[in-house]
Amino acid sequence: MVLEITRPGEARAHVGIIGGSGIYDPGSLDNPVEVKVHTPYGEPSDFITIGEIEGVKVAFLPRHGRGHRIPPHMINYRANMWALKALGVKWVLSVSAVGSLREDYKPGDLVVPDQFIDMTKNRKYTFFDGPVTVHVSMADPFCRDLSERVYGVVRDLGYPVHMGGTYICIEGPRFSTRAESRVWKEVFHADIIGMTLVPEVNLACELGLCYSTLAMVTDYDVWADHPVTAGEVERIMKSNIEKARNTIVKLVPRLKDDPDESKCTCCNALENAIV
Ligand SMILES: [Zn+2]
Repeated sequence: MVLEITRPGEARAHVGIIGGSGIYDPGSLDNPVEVKVHTPYGEPSDFITIGEIEGVKVAFLPRHGRGHRIPPHMINYRANMWALKALGVKWVLSVSAVGSLREDYKPGDLVVPDQFIDMTKNRKYTFFDGPVTVHVSMADPFCRDLSERVYGVVRDLGYPVHMGGTYICIEGPRFSTRAESRVWKEVFHADIIGMTLVPEVNLACELGLCYSTLAMVTDYDVWADHPVTAGEVERIMKSNIEKARNTIVKLVPRLKDDPDESKCTCCNALENAIV
């Protein structure tokens, strides 16, 4: 049965999880219900599954749709984020596969980034297209409270994890040229590269959501000239997916409370925006 949601507040979840490449189902949720959320911005990527982990309500959304139907540049980011907000979530953890731009962020490692650089070209970046104009602060784009909790869980699980790093978001769907990859690494000093962080992160901010990313390194970008086989990438992807699932299961119960407002300003980002 699919529950249809057309107005905010009809169903409730406390934690939102956005699954990236390879993570199309939420794993083991208690009492799962699929909901279809209709938004003023169109349809989200897929049905959202609401369920529980140790009694904490979770809303799971596969960013690319089940079976990876929607490429990064075609995702309706506004509908996705609005839908999670409409379900009442406070925390949003997004999980995504990335390439590495530095030797010591190895395939199989996890990264909790603290900055981003936006090299996307043609997306819907804001909920405020006028007449109301809003300029939210992006100086510290990720929720520090959530990032610290995510890092703590991954460390407790014993997985290799890096706290901090700059995620460069490219438009895609193509990968970078060698020249571009060298620029991202040597000129921009970015650490990891992907195609989906922007505008998810800034839309979360406009909605007052506590947002953080768990980035899973699958390979070195083309700068490294490390030849990789499809088999290697598949093996790394599989092991990363298992790490992400285990992280989610352990993290969600630790998000039972509300965000600590002394550690983050996410919840009142709009109050501090320049209008
Ligand atoms: Zn926050």
